[in-house]
Amino acid sequence: MNLEVLNGLLRPKSIAVVGASDSEGKIGYTVVKNLLESGYEGDIYPINPKGGEIQGLKAYASVLDVPGDIDAAAMVVPAKFIPDVARECGQKGVRGLIVIASGFSEVGRDDLETEVVEIAHEFGMRVLGPNIVGILSNSDKCNASFAPFLPLEGKAALVSQSGALLIAMDASTYIRRVGFDKMISIGNMSDVNFADMVEWLDHDENTDCISLYVEGLRDGRRFMENARNAQKPIIALKSGTSAHGAAAAASHTGSLAGSGKIYDAAFDQAGVVMASNLNNLFDRTLALSLQPPMQGENLLIITNGGGVGVLATDSAERYGIPLHFAPEEVQEELKKHMPDFGSAKNPVDLTGMAGRDWYQDSVQYAFAHEWVDGLVILYCETAMTDPMDIARGIQAAVEASGVTDKPVSVSFVGGERSEEAMRWLVENGIPAYGEPDAAVNVIAALREYARNEDMAAHPFDPFTDVDEAAAREIIKKSRAASERGLTEVESKAIFEAYGMPVARTRLSETEEQAVELAEEIGYPVVMKIVSSDILHKSDAGGVKVDLNSADEVREAFTTIISNAKAYKEDADIQGVAVQHMAPWGTEVILGSVNDPTFGPTVMFGLGGIFVEILRDVTFRIAPVSPDQAFAMLSDINGAPILEGARGETPKDRNALAQLLSRYSQMVCDLADEIQETDANPVIVYEENEGAIIVDARIILKKVEQ
Ligand code: ADP
Ligand code: MG
Repeated sequence: MNLEVLNGLLRPKSIAVVGASDSEGKIGYTVVKNLLESGYEGDIYPINPKGGEIQGLKAYASVLDVPGDIDAAAMVVPAKFIPDVARECGQKGVRGLIVIASGFSEVGRDDLETEVVEIAHEFGMRVLGPNIVGILSNSDKCNASFAPFLPLEGKAALVSQSGALLIAMDASTYIRRVGFDKMISIGNMSDVNFADMVEWLDHDENTDCISLYVEGLRDGRRFMENARNAQKPIIALKSGTSAHGAAAAASHTGSLAGSGKIYDAAFDQAGVVMASNLNNLFDRTLALSLQPPMQGENLLIITNGGGVGVLATDSAERYGIPLHFAPEEVQEELKKHMPDFGSAKNPVDLTGMAGRDWYQDSVQYAFAHEWVDGLVILYCETAMTDPMDIARGIQAAVEASGVTDKPVSVSFVGGERSEEAMRWLVENGIPAYGEPDAAVNVIAALREYARNEDMAAHPFDPFTDVDEAAAREIIKKSRAASERGLTEVESKAIFEAYGMPVARTRLSETEEQAVELAEEIGYPVVMKIVSSDILHKSDAGGVKVDLNSADEVREAFTTIISNAKAYKEDADIQGVAVQHMAPWGTEVILGSVNDPTFGPTVMFGLGGIFVEILRDVTFRIAPVSPDQAFAMLSDINGAPILEGARGETPKDRNALAQLLSRYSQMVCDLADEIQETDANPVIVYEENEGAIIVDARIILKKVEQ
C-alpha cells in the first residue's frame, strides 16, 4: 500500500470541498465552517458551480479551476454526481477522495460505489467512504467533517464504521477525559478499510493507540496481518454477531461458529484487544494510549480501604489476572508504610489513615520491585486526606521509580475533589477511573495485549509428510461422479492423506462384502450407513457398534439399511461402512468452517452428542502451530477433563495438538474446495497413547454455476 497517497487523503495540506455552500444547515456549509473553525492551516477550496465567495473564501466552479494543488477532496454533492467529480479530481491530481455523501451500497447502489472506486484507482487516488462523517485531526487542526468540533486532544486514534457513533464519541471525549488525536469515519469501506487504517496509523507519529469500532471487516486476513505487524496497541469494539453461523449449520461446527466467536479468535490472534462496550472502549483506549503492556502475571493492588480492595480482587480474577501474595521481603518493606492494623498482603491495605507519604513511599517501592508486573492504586476519599495531594504523591512516586515498562492505573472513589484529582492524573499520564473495576479491567487489557503479542509471534511450520494431490484426487473423483457431498469413507481418506490417524474404514455394498471386510479389519467392528441424505447417522439408527461375528455383521447390515429407509424413504444409499472399532476413550470434536471474512478456521471442543448444547468450543483462524493448538486445549471449560481431573488420568494432549495442527493445514491447503468439515468424535486416550478419528465429514463448496 502506498502510505504517501494515504497521507494526502488523511493529513491533507489542501482540501477542496466539492458541494461547498453558503446556506446554513447544508452539509456543504458545515464542512467549510468546521475547517475554518478548527484552525486548519492548509488551503481550503470551496467548489460550487456558482463560483463567487463562500464563507469569505473564493469559490471555484470546478476543481479543475483551482490554481494550487489539492491533496484531498471532501465530497458532499449527491451520489449521482460523484463519478464525474471524481474524474475531474483525478485529472487535477487530487490524492484522496473523502466521500461524505451517502446513497451508495447502503441503499443498494453498489454499482455507483464500484464506479467511483474504479475511477479513483485509474488516477491513483484512494477513496474514504462513501457514507461517512469525514476526518478529524487535532495535530493538523483539521475538522473536515460534519462532526461539530475536534475531540479532546490526546494520543489515541478512532476509526469508526458508524458515523453517528463517531460524532457521539467525539462529543463525549470531553466528559470522559479521553483524548484522541484523530477520528476517522470509514463508512462503506469501498476502498480504504480497517486493514489500511491500521497500517497507516501504525506509521502516524501522533497516534499511540488505535481504537476501532467494527461492524464487519472486509479483508480479514490482511487486517490480521497488518494488526499483527503493528507496533502500537489496537483495541476493537465489535458489534453484531456473525450471520453466517446460522446460515451454514450443515455441520456441528457451522452451528457453533456464530456469535462473534470467529472474530474473537481472529482479534486475539492478531494481537487486537477487545472492548466489551462503549464505556469499556473509552476506558481501555485511555490506558492503552498512556501505559505500556503488562509483561508478567503479578498484579499488586494498593488501597486505603478494604471494601474497594476486595472489589478489585474480584475484578482481577474475573479479568484473568488473579492476585498472588508478594514475596516476604516486599511485604516487610511495605509494612513500614502503614499502621499495625494495615495489611501488606495483596491487596496492600494502607488503611484509611494513609496520607500522601504512605501512598508515595509504598507506590515508589512496589512499582520498582522486580516481582511487580503491574500496579493498581485505589483510594477512597476521606475527611483527613486531600485527593489532589494523594494524586500528586502517586504521580511523584511513579516518576521517581524510574519505571517505564510496567503499567499503572488508579481509581479514586469519592466526590468532586476526587474527580478533579483524577483529571489531573490523566493529564499527567496515569489513567484514572471512578470505578475500581475499570482500573483493574484496563490493566487486564494491557496484560491481554502482551499475551496476544506473544501468541501472534508463533509461526506455523507446514507439515511436509502430507499428500495434497491425493486429497484433491478424491475430491475430483467425487465431484465427477455425482452432485452428492463426500461420504464418511472419502472424508476419512482425505484426513489420512494429511497424516491424521483414522479408524480403518471400508465401504460395503452387500452383506457378504461387509462380512469379508469385517474379517479383514478384525472384530469387533462398527457399521454405519453411508448416504449423502443422512447427515446424523445415529439419529437414523444408522450406527451399530461392537459387532463380533459374521452373523452380527449380516444382521447389522440389514437393520441399518431398513432403518435408513424408514428414516428417509427416498434416501440415496451408497452402502454400509465397516470400520475398526476404536477402544473407549474421551470424545472430542475438531471442526472448521470456511469463514467469508477470515477464510478457514479451526474449532476444538469436547465432543459427543451434547456438543451443540454445551457449546464448550474454541476457535482459531487456521493454520495453527502445534503450540497454538495445544493452547486451544486449555481454552475450553472442560479443559480439566483432558488435564486429568477427579482421579482421571491426563489425556494425550500432544497427540491432539498434532492432530489439530495437521487438520488446520488441511483446511488451508484445500480452502478452495472445503466449505465445512468436522471430526466428531475423535477419541483420545491416555498420555502417549494417541487419538483416533472415528467419524469424519467434509462438506465441499458449491460449484459456481
Ligand atoms: P453420527 O455422528 O453421524 O451419528 P458417528 O460416526 O459419530 O455417527 O457414530 C456415533 C457414535 O458411535 C460416535 O459418537 C462414537 O461414540 C461411536 N463410534 C462411531 N464409530 C466408531 C468407531 N469406529 N469406533 C468406536 N466407536 C465409534
Ligand atoms: Mg459423529
